[in-house]
Amino acid sequence: MDRQWNKVLSIIKDQISLGNFRQWFANTQIDPSSTDPVIVRVPNAFIQEQLTKRYSPIVEAAVQTVFGGNRGVEFKVDTSLAVKKKDEETEHEDESLELNFVPGHIQQNNSGLNPTYTMDNFVVGLSNNLAYAAAQAVIQNPNTTYNPLFIWGGTGVGKTHLMHAVGNALWQKNPTIKVIYCSSEKFTNDFVESIQTKKTSEFRARYRSCNLFLIDDIQFIAGRDSTQEEFFHTFNELHSKNTQVILTSDRPPYELQKLEPRLSSRFQAGLIVDVQAPDFDTRVAILRTKCKERGDFVPEECLTLIAEHTQTNARELEGKLIQIIQTAKLQNLTIDIDYVRNQVGAGRGGANNPPADSKKVITSVNQYFNIKMADLTGPRRNKELVLPRQLAMYLLHVDCKIPFEKIGDMLGGRDHTTIMHGVDKMREVINRDREIQRMLIEIKQAVAA
Ligand code: ADP
Ligand code: MG
Repeated sequence: MDRQWNKVLSIIKDQISLGNFRQWFANTQIDPSSTDPVIVRVPNAFIQEQLTKRYSPIVEAAVQTVFGGNRGVEFKVDTSLAVKKKDEETEHEDESLELNFVPGHIQQNNSGLNPTYTMDNFVVGLSNNLAYAAAQAVIQNPNTTYNPLFIWGGTGVGKTHLMHAVGNALWQKNPTIKVIYCSSEKFTNDFVESIQTKKTSEFRARYRSCNLFLIDDIQFIAGRDSTQEEFFHTFNELHSKNTQVILTSDRPPYELQKLEPRLSSRFQAGLIVDVQAPDFDTRVAILRTKCKERGDFVPEECLTLIAEHTQTNARELEGKLIQIIQTAKLQNLTIDIDYVRNQVGAGRGGANNPPADSKKVITSVNQYFNIKMADLTGPRRNKELVLPRQLAMYLLHVDCKIPFEKIGDMLGGRDHTTIMHGVDKMREVINRDREIQRMLIEIKQAVAA
């Protein structure tokens, strides 16, 4: 079982940065008695939360590759594993030096930057072009226009990538600058540790002396009073020295409950940009880029199919692609459209699910919006009716797999081009509008209930 888990780990290791791999997967073990879900034991609750939130798709894909089947993964805390970590910590510190190697073989001062995340390999599309433009502006004119730059968005949409990309670009322009990249969790841990070891002045000197401060997932700092206080002072000092600060978060500052108002207003004084889930074209382009980087060839029609089936975010997209490539390699198969069709259908919620019940879809939509069947099928085209109608068209086509003509008949004799337009429109809106994403999820839940 341990050998199997090592196999899983080696697949995961190929897909994420070495730093992340060590941070999240060191001291993980598998529970040998578990089969489905496979239980992965982890040293603490924070790692559990992070693995669940950030790495589930990758771990699940790797587990399915090694153990076969369609099984899920669950992370459970086992504190006995944490002790082991302490013993190994010094060793990790030494090893982490090699992480700071950047192309050109110049060593960077422990900045934590991941050299593989660059502006060049960041695919720009409708969902992220604003954030990309802001990042470019910061690279051209750091410490001036957009300070701080606050990037927010759902998980796996490229926030961390973009942040490292700015760091790498600025550092390339001027290798003497000191860059600090850290998660807010690391900032918190370092701070707490500095208090315990009575080394707060060293802590402050380190964090306040950089020329570029990148702080990832700032949402974790909310609610931690003393860390927020410390961060506030760090931020102020950096700001007064015109040091560029970039932050990321899963939501905008004004939605971070428990974030001190004075911090919130500091964050809002710069530029706030969001990154949305990638639209279809961007997803295909991301897949193309990832294949090229990995040196793997996957036919274009297969990439299109993967992009159609994986609509959530770039991380899941990448996870799916890698799962497909790895499985093909393990089984010595050529990646063609039939193979990929099979693979994309294999996951939960995939294409092979039985079609949803169309009557239930229609009643769920009506109930959700509190409208009558006659409204849904009738001719009136006010906004309150157009959205439910188009959502119904989308669900009937995508989830119930009903052809456009037939949907036209079901919805009061509408032309098939109207239905096509409605479905396309929804496809596009769903990618960028979270409110509509939420509606869709809730309606689907009602249908499935
Ligand atoms: P977040 O920090 O928003 O959760 P990440 O930056 O960690 O997301 O991105 C997850 C994965 O998806 C990374 O491997 C990243 O390289 C990739 N990715 C996300 N967006 C893009 C993009 N626009 N172009 C290329 N790769 C992307
Ligand atoms: Mg991130």
